[in-house]
Amino acid sequence: MRLLVLSDVHANLEAMEACLAAAPAHDRVVNLGDVVGYNASPNEVCELVRAMGGPVVRGNHDRACTGLTDLSEFNLVAALSAQWTQIALVRGHQNWLRSLPQGPVRLDELPELEFVHGSPRDEDEYLLNASTASANFREPDHADVMMFGHTHVQGGFVYQEGKTHYFAPGYDTMEGVAEFTLTLTPGERYLINPGSVGQPRDGDWRAAFALYEKNGKAPARVTFYRVPYNVKKAQDRIFAASLPERLALRLATGR
Ligand code: ZN
Repeated sequence: MRLLVLSDVHANLEAMEACLAAAPAHDRVVNLGDVVGYNASPNEVCELVRAMGGPVVRGNHDRACTGLTDLSEFNLVAALSAQWTQIALVRGHQNWLRSLPQGPVRLDELPELEFVHGSPRDEDEYLLNASTASANFREPDHADVMMFGHTHVQGGFVYQEGKTHYFAPGYDTMEGVAEFTLTLTPGERYLINPGSVGQPRDGDWRAAFALYEKNGKAPARVTFYRVPYNVKKAQDRIFAASLPERLALRLATGR
């Protein structure tokens, strides 16, 4: 079983297309939310995500861009992009985004996995440090391997012998397509972020995603990917839409 894991596409069509072109063969897809917001191709990206099938967990931007939550928690740039997206989205995609389930979500075929946007205990929580991750590992009734998004940082946390450790894939350069495989140790628990397709914030400008593989009794593996894409084209769409310049500039630095 090979599961493609996408998150935080954020209406970036060029990044999404590059990821799909680079993605290895897979049986299923899961999307950890924030399909829209920030970038300028919400309808095109909804179209692609819906066509792929598979569970899609709702993200905070999916809620804010369809009026499910107000914008008071958002900073000015995020609020402006959410307002723009509310107007740009066609009715059918709005309704679909509003219908997305709140995490945790599970798949019958892979009961060891759980999918969330923020954290297992709170869909809006940012899992940015070991103490927050540790608190989530201690929550009862969660799966051994929990996949999350929201932070736009590829990597995650492993819980071994009562201690939580942070990990991130190590890449040699920030050019070209790169991949990094992690073999999961049976008995240990994981919080894994595939990274953000459409607005990475870990200092690497390339689009990010991951592939989870489980075959028979062999230990499961997660391969992290980074894929270059046409940033200039995504930026030009942001300028043409009169969205805040900051949203375009940050794509080039992955911040
Ligand atoms: Zn996001």
